[in-house]
Amino acid sequence: MKISDLAKKVQAGDLKMHHFEQYFSVEDSIEKRQEIVSRITKSKLEKISDFSMSPKEAARKNCENMIGAIQVPVGVAGPLKINGEYARGRFFFPLATTEGCLVAGVNRGCRASMLSGGVKTVTKRRGITRAPVFKTTGIRESKKFAQWIEDNFEKIKSQVEKTDPHISLHKIKCWRVGRSVHVRFVFGTADAMGMNMAVVACDNVIKNLITKKTGIKCISVTGNMCSDKKPTAINFILGRGLSTWAEVIIKKKDVKKVLKVTPEEIVEVNTRKNLEGSALAGSYGFNAHFANIIAAMFIATGQDPAHVVEGSSGITSAELEKNGDLYFSVHLPSLIIGAVGGGTGLDTQKEALEILGVNVTKGNPGDNVMKLAEVITAAVLAGELSLLSALAANDLARAHVVYGRRKKYKT
Ligand code: NAP
Repeated sequence: MKISDLAKKVQAGDLKMHHFEQYFSVEDSIEKRQEIVSRITKSKLEKISDFSMSPKEAARKNCENMIGAIQVPVGVAGPLKINGEYARGRFFFPLATTEGCLVAGVNRGCRASMLSGGVKTVTKRRGITRAPVFKTTGIRESKKFAQWIEDNFEKIKSQVEKTDPHISLHKIKCWRVGRSVHVRFVFGTADAMGMNMAVVACDNVIKNLITKKTGIKCISVTGNMCSDKKPTAINFILGRGLSTWAEVIIKKKDVKKVLKVTPEEIVEVNTRKNLEGSALAGSYGFNAHFANIIAAMFIATGQDPAHVVEGSSGITSAELEKNGDLYFSVHLPSLIIGAVGGGTGLDTQKEALEILGVNVTKGNPGDNVMKLAEVITAAVLAGELSLLSALAANDLARAHVVYGRRKKYKT
């Protein structure tokens, strides 16, 4: 069939573009969608059509109705020495961004941290969560149902663990409100971020065990107590995915040399901006810009960018040492990442993971994601350090003009 006829059928609603793979190869389906969209919308799509990743993997697992790929520039910051529990050595960070100044900022933070021997990192596995909501007849039945869940933990665990060799059930906790019971499952998912694994496991255990045995209906496999891709107190307090910490002590002279401010000035901006200002605003982001570094590292390494929401919550601490040096630290309660699955298998994202030495075919299951978490957290620390210094030096506007707009800065 000619493209013009296909386009007519699509416009008339007689043919669905996501059915193309049933009739054509993946490559041909992509090309036909490009031509149809281009024809109907009068757009060229020359660059979107010109991509290097394998469309088979992307169109099968990552993106329906694929028409091509959007390119995002990737810069590299580093090296930064990381003395972590899983990440050890000198690292370069791939950052996919369109914000001029971001890579330069992280790079400057790395340089300052390197002069004092690099950063320390620590990671704790919290587990990925999914919280279905069930409907009962009232508060008495809700109490009985929550008790049943608690009493049958071992049976639920064994049903969950049948769904994937990499999933394990760590905890379950129930919250009751009127006729609703919110059941929050906490899963271990080895090197994977695990949301697909978690939803499959929940669906399976609800249908084959919980509703079968109790008769209580599940209204939705997610009832927002998870909480996925929303800023929440529960994730901030309990942590979700991985909780991470990084710290560095930088000599006063190195702070002055590289960051062009004093440790006192960094401490003051951190207190007045990140702590006071964020408290006044009711924010969960007691930091300057975790989201910037997390978004750039997530896009580069094939993470789900929507999880920047959880990643952006966290606290930056800055203190003055007795000798005048700077103690600087970041804490991310909910870093939601995977070293396998999601977009990590796409060709360019795989290469970005290679830069970090993250490869799930090597090492113990689960160790690669811990390493990735420590690396991202170290990059976040470097970015925080640089931005707070720029703010303390009243240099933010100038730097953005110089790096972002390539124009002369006028005051
Ligand atoms: P996934 O893409 O479904 O892949 C995970 C799979 O990787 C596992 O099932 C496992 O399959 C395999 N695997 C191989 N080696 C592994 C190892 N060392 N550790 C763990 N797994 C290993 O990924 P996912 O992490 O479960 O989910 C991530 C995706 O979920 C992302 O694309 C994200 O955008 C999406 N997401 C989904 C929801 C949702 O509600 N469904 C919500 C948010 C995000 P085998 O055991 O068969 O090898």
